[in-house]
Amino acid sequence: MTDNIRMNSLKITELISSTEIQSAIDRLARQIELAYVDTDEVAVVVLLEGARRFSSDLFQRITNPKFKITHVKASSYNGTTQSSGQVAIVAPPDLAIQGKEILLVDDIYDTGHTMTALINWLNKQGAAQIKTAVLLVKNRGHEHTVPIDFHALEVEDLFVVGYGLDYQERYRELDYIGILNNDYPAD
Ligand code: 5GP
Ligand code: MG
Repeated sequence: MTDNIRMNSLKITELISSTEIQSAIDRLARQIELAYVDTDEVAVVVLLEGARRFSSDLFQRITNPKFKITHVKASSYNGTTQSSGQVAIVAPPDLAIQGKEILLVDDIYDTGHTMTALINWLNKQGAAQIKTAVLLVKNRGHEHTVPIDFHALEVEDLFVVGYGLDYQERYRELDYIGILNNDYPAD
């Protein structure tokens, strides 16, 4: 859990191992399948880039073709570790939302700005129902502004990288979740 791994001269401290991530996704896949057992079609909207890897592993486990997956680009961070509060959305032009049951998938829920922006955007286009699924919920010690229906794991309120999550487009390829050592709080 506290292994230090030297990567490109920056140390990453592992917080969540690859094995823990994969077991959590196993459980999440079963929960999601169960929740949609009576639903004919689910439009899965995956937020890029962060959720690409998570959703790929998740939907290798959920093979029912009623889950139709679309990738949408939503970015709010602009290369810093602070949220800008601005969310830019780029979706395929033929993406049909009207009357659909949506499962919105993101990598991590932090302030909720991204989810809120996406939910407003989906509602404007007439989504029938919206549920949310994230790999990680950041434990910020306050109420979520939007309900998270499904989550795999929780993390401390730290800037995490790995398993799809980046810092300035780096570290997405790691199989585990970790923190950059200079973000580690002093004891
Ligand atoms: P929110 O809008 O909830 O504040 O943040 C959600 C988005 O910000 C996520 O989709 C993710 O891209 C980015 N983000 C939030 N916290 C972290 C973090 O700890 N690490 C990384 N790499 N990205 C984060
Ligand atoms: Mg993101």
